[in-house]
Amino acid sequence: MTKEHCCEAMINKVNYVCKEHKSPFECPDRVIYYSSKFNEYGLIVHDGGSSSIEISYCPWCGTKLPMSKRDLWFDTLEELGFDEPFEQNIPEEFKSDKWYKK
Ligand SMILES: [Zn+2]
Ligand SMILES: [Zn+2]
Repeated sequence: MTKEHCCEAMINKVNYVCKEHKSPFECPDRVIYYSSKFNEYGLIVHDGGSSSIEISYCPWCGTKLPMSKRDLWFDTLEELGFDEPFEQNIPEEFKSDKWYKK
């Protein structure tokens, strides 16, 4: 199943698969990081860690990208009783885009 993104360039960057590097943060060919659970696009910062800079517009076609759901993700989980979601066993749907797409 392919995700829908604003343009072909974005689709190619987001879905780029590298045989050498498992993590997008280790691969010099990866520039865009897309988090489906946060619906968030970021520019990968290759500093050896896993940092990215959130972007609001597509660098290729200029389309305004969706607002990040990161805050909503934390708020929703907190309401469900998960105040430390990274430490806790959160419901499966919160690990992908399912939690806001239902
Ligand atoms: Zn685009
Ligand atoms: Zn690579």
